[in-house]
Amino acid sequence: MMDAQLTLDWIADRAERYNTDGEIVSRRPDRSLSRTTYGQMIGRARKLARALVGAGIQRGDRVATLMWNHAEHLEAYFGIPLAGATIHTLNLRLHPDEIAYIANDAGDRFLIVDDVLLPLYEKIVAAGARFERVFVVGAGGDGSYDKLLAGAPDLALPKLAETDALGLCYTSGTTGKPKGVVYSHRSSLLHVLVAALPDSLDFKRSMTLLPVVPMFHVNAWGIPYIAAMVGAKLVMPGPYLDPPSVLELMQNERVTCAAGVPTIWIGIRDALDAEPGRWKLQPGIRMVVGGSAAPEQLIRDFDRLGLSLLQAWGMTETSPIGTVARLSPELEAADEATRYRTRAKQGRPVPLVDLRVCNEDGEVPRDDKTSGEVQVRGPWISASYVGGHTPERWTADGYFCTGDVARVDSHGFIQLTDRMADLIKSGGEWIATQELENALMGHPAVREAAVIGVAHPKWSERPLAAIVLKQGASCTADELRAFLAPNFAKFWLPDAFVFIDAIPRTSAGKFKKTELRQQFRDYRWT
Ligand code: AMP
Repeated sequence: MMDAQLTLDWIADRAERYNTDGEIVSRRPDRSLSRTTYGQMIGRARKLARALVGAGIQRGDRVATLMWNHAEHLEAYFGIPLAGATIHTLNLRLHPDEIAYIANDAGDRFLIVDDVLLPLYEKIVAAGARFERVFVVGAGGDGSYDKLLAGAPDLALPKLAETDALGLCYTSGTTGKPKGVVYSHRSSLLHVLVAALPDSLDFKRSMTLLPVVPMFHVNAWGIPYIAAMVGAKLVMPGPYLDPPSVLELMQNERVTCAAGVPTIWIGIRDALDAEPGRWKLQPGIRMVVGGSAAPEQLIRDFDRLGLSLLQAWGMTETSPIGTVARLSPELEAADEATRYRTRAKQGRPVPLVDLRVCNEDGEVPRDDKTSGEVQVRGPWISASYVGGHTPERWTADGYFCTGDVARVDSHGFIQLTDRMADLIKSGGEWIATQELENALMGHPAVREAAVIGVAHPKWSERPLAAIVLKQGASCTADELRAFLAPNFAKFWLPDAFVFIDAIPRTSAGKFKKTELRQQFRDYRWT
C-alpha cells in the first residue's frame, strides 16, 4: 500500500472539494450571525497559512489563538497547521497570569486574538507574555487579521509529515502547574475518524452541529475537524453561552446535535422547564456531554423533554475521546432502570483506545464493585507532557495513568467514582465523592451537589456536601441524608450538608474542589 501520511491536508482538501457548500454560521459579538461555507473557509485558511509562512513562521513554531468559537477560529484550526506550525489554543477563562505563563512556556511566537478580547490580551501582556506579532480579528487597520490575509504572498506551503505537531493544549491543572499536551497530525486524524463512527459520536453530513464546548478546550472535542470532514453544517455560538442564546441558535439554525459540559445542559434543562413550549427544537436532538459526570437525573429529564444526552469521557491527554456510553442492542433491550444506570456511566472505550482499570492487585475484575485507576493507551493518547514533566504518569508498560477512579461492569462500561485527589479517607476507608454527588443530584430539589472531605478529629476526614437548590425548592439535611441512605453504606453519608448559592468552578466548568475545600477548611463538626 502507499505511504499516505495522515495529515490535515486530507480533511482540508475534502472540505474544499466535496463539502464546498456546507454552511458555517457564527454568532458575532454584536449578536448578529455571519455565514460562510467550507469552501470559502478553507480558501481563507490556506491564505492564512501562506501569510504566516510569509511572515517568517517556520515548521514547528507555535502560533496561539485567544478566540471564541467562530469561523475565523476554524480558519486558524486549519491555517496554522497547514503552515507547518502548531496551533496553541489559549484558554481565555484562566487568570491572565496563568495564560501568560502558558504562552511563554509554549514559546508562542504569534497570537491571533478577537477584538473583544483585547482587554484580556492587555492583562496577559502586563503579566509578562511576549508575542512577536499580534493579529486582531474583527478590527480594521494595520494589525488586523484581515490585513494579514489580504497580504498573503503566493508561495508553496511546506509538505507536512504525519508526526508533525498540529495542536497544543494545556491541562487545566487543578493541582500543580498546567502541563502542555501536543497533538500530531496523525493522532488528530485518527481521533476524528474514530470519534465520527456510528457507535462513537455518530456524526454525518446530514447533521447540524453546535459545539458549545469552546474551541480552547481540547480542540472542542475534535468537532471542528469532524464537521469539516463529514461536511455537517456547523453553528458556532461566539461568546454567548447562556441558555437563551444557545436555545435560540438550536431553534433557528435547526441544530440536531450539540456538545458541552453538564453545566450547560443543566441550564438548558432549567430554561426548557421554566417556559414549556417556548422553544421549538428539532425532535430528538442529541447532546453530547462530557468533561464532568452527567447525573442520571439529567439524562432522564432530557428524555422527558424529547431530547437525548450521550455521555462521553476523556481528557486533554486523550485528545479527548476515550469512552462513549452508547448502549449495545442487548442493553437497549434491558429494563428502564438498567438503561438509565448504564447511560449515566462513562461507557466503553472507542476503537483504538486500550483501557484498563488497575488497583494494587492488578487489573480489576468486571464485577461493577472493585475500583481502581483508569489507565489508557492508544494512538491519540499523550506519551509525555511538554518539557517531560511528571513521567510517573506513564506506566512501565506504556499506559497513561488518568487519575480517575472507576469500576467496570460485565459489559465493559466504566463508571467513574472519583478523581484520586478527591477521594475521602474516613477511618481508613475510602469514600467516592462523585458517587454521592450523582445520587444527590437525583433529588428533585437539588440543582447541583459537590462533596468534599473535611478534616475531622476522630475519622481524619468526613464528607461534607455543598448543595445548590433549584430555584424555589427547599429541603433539609435530614431529608437528603434519608434520600441517600438506602443506597450507601452508613459511613458514606455526609455528616454535613451546607446550602450555598453556587459551587466554585474551574475554567472548564468542573467543580473546583480545591476552592471548596479551602472555603470549608475550618468547618466545625458538631
Ligand atoms: P480535562 O483534561 O480538563 O478535559 O479534564 C479531564 C477530566 O475531566 C477527566 O480526567 C475526568 O476526571 C473528568 N471527566 C471528563 N469527562 C467526564 C465524564 N463524562 N464523567 C466524569 N468525569 C469526566
